[in-house]
Amino acid sequence: MFRLAPDLPPEVVFLLQDFRLAVNAAIRAGLQARVTSRNALCRLAYKAFREEHPRMYAQHLVSSFEVAASALKNHRRRMHRGMSRIPYLRRLMMKTENQAYKLDRENGMIDLPIMAGCHVQLRLVVSQYHRRYLDDRSLSLGSLTILPDRVIIAFRKEAAKAFAPESALSLDTNERSLDGVFAEGNTAMPVKAESPEVATIQQRYHDRRKRLQKKKAHDRRTSRRLCRKEGKREHDRIQYRLHQVANSVLSFADAKKSAIVLEDLRGIRHKKNKDKELNRRLSMWPRRQLHQIIEYKAEWRGIPVIKVDPRDSSRKCPICGRIQDSRMGNEFKCDCGWHLDRHINASLNLLQTATSKGLEVAGGLRFNPGAFQHDVMMILYEPAMAARSEPNGTSCV
Ligand SMILES: [Zn+2]
Repeated sequence: MFRLAPDLPPEVVFLLQDFRLAVNAAIRAGLQARVTSRNALCRLAYKAFREEHPRMYAQHLVSSFEVAASALKNHRRRMHRGMSRIPYLRRLMMKTENQAYKLDRENGMIDLPIMAGCHVQLRLVVSQYHRRYLDDRSLSLGSLTILPDRVIIAFRKEAAKAFAPESALSLDTNERSLDGVFAEGNTAMPVKAESPEVATIQQRYHDRRKRLQKKKAHDRRTSRRLCRKEGKREHDRIQYRLHQVANSVLSFADAKKSAIVLEDLRGIRHKKNKDKELNRRLSMWPRRQLHQIIEYKAEWRGIPVIKVDPRDSSRKCPICGRIQDSRMGNEFKCDCGWHLDRHINASLNLLQTATSKGLEVAGGLRFNPGAFQHDVMMILYEPAMAARSEPNGTSCV
């Protein structure tokens, strides 16, 4: 975020006003035609607006459809939840993409086209804090947002190039832990990252919320407000734990140059269980969220992640390939004599699927059941490792 020196020149103020008109015109058109995509809005509103404002820079006009599209999408989402007002852009603002402006990173001057043949120079106030971003050439420029009193430039970091894996870390995602196997050359050993508090925190807040709703049954507004507040706190605490688990997994993978294998959770819905309580807990464990965190942080650090179809991974014997009819207890047992912790076994199957789908590890993986070290368990994360006091959810990235 930058301040400007001096204030916005009048040409830019006019541009912001035109931009606001364009956004609101596109929102109206989108509502009428029931479309929310930028391209559809472009087709609908471009020509008419062009006729009224023939000289506005075309890139800015397209950006205004982008802003309108996201306003319409938010509106639609809120409609589903039953609360919505017709969206309307009140404040003066404009947003534009990096092709539509130039920034001199040395002297902090923005060159902004207003219309054909008319450009305006904006001078940014550059502090030491801003210098760090301007001078870091691994950061490229993203969108530019102009507000009456300030300018926001988004910087993008190019993701690191993924390394060629020398080992594999395959993880089965469960309600209270990630259970898996670390395989390197011809050895493999079980690993675990435990995070039982996530489920516990959820349970606690669920109970508390229920109690609140009952107690404040006569005053739905207060009850809703309190629940929202509780929900925010719950969310922050769970996020903190998920980031901790993800960080420990990634540090390990980074140190061992491991590819991470995860199950593809898309499209998995739990069958309606008679045990409603268990079903709720299972579906609420934010496994997808954990995967998302692992994936984007891995991309950042250049750690390859492979997602595989988890079908039958909890029922298959990784040695003889037989598929067991039903789920068993905590241990997977096969007629061929193979037996192993159910979750670890699932992660072995995920690893096999990944290898058959083209995961290549330097030197290869020669998995031999005899070499499986049943007796050692490598702990990547456990609650005691969160020695720091419970945070307020901001320090977790
Ligand atoms: Zn078997």
